[in-house]
Amino acid sequence: MPQTDHLKTDCSKCAALCCLALAFDKGRDFAFDKNPGEPCRNLSGHSCAIHDRLEQEGFRGCVAYDCMGAGNRVVQEVFGGLTWRDEPRLARVMTEAFAAMREMHRRIDMLRVAGTFPLQPPEDQARREFLARLEQHRWSGPELNEFEMGLALEIDIFFHGIRKHLPDDLAEEWLD
Ligand code: SF4
Repeated sequence: MPQTDHLKTDCSKCAALCCLALAFDKGRDFAFDKNPGEPCRNLSGHSCAIHDRLEQEGFRGCVAYDCMGAGNRVVQEVFGGLTWRDEPRLARVMTEAFAAMREMHRRIDMLRVAGTFPLQPPEDQARREFLARLEQHRWSGPELNEFEMGLALEIDIFFHGIRKHLPDDLAEEWLD
């Protein structure tokens, strides 16, 4: 059976976590200000009421955004399909889990990309082991909370160690 690619975004299995959790400022990409944790005023249930005309309405930032599968995974895997609409008390913890899952999926993406560069065999082995730990684990909320202070830092240190193998622009984007 093919393995699920956790980085694949499926908005139909999410609960509009990006439209709840993220902040944005009025400007070129967004038509008004929104605070983190505040449901966007364009939300209708878990759907965007202006989805088919986001660019015309001044929300290019929403068109460009991709959570890399973090939202659907948080709703389905961490909260078993529950949503902050059904259970408003979950809004804060879902927002926190979404932030941590985004960071984790970002590192999965970075570890995959790093495999395309000429790493030394022990470095590539370490890369594979990190990737397996991230991809093969089923995450709970408390584990996600711990991720950023634990495993994420270990992975960041690993990336500093292999910086010499990375193109400058990528090293800058990932590490600075
Ligand atoms: S404009 Fe639509 S897609 Fe953008 S944050 Fe608001 S509800 Fe979400």
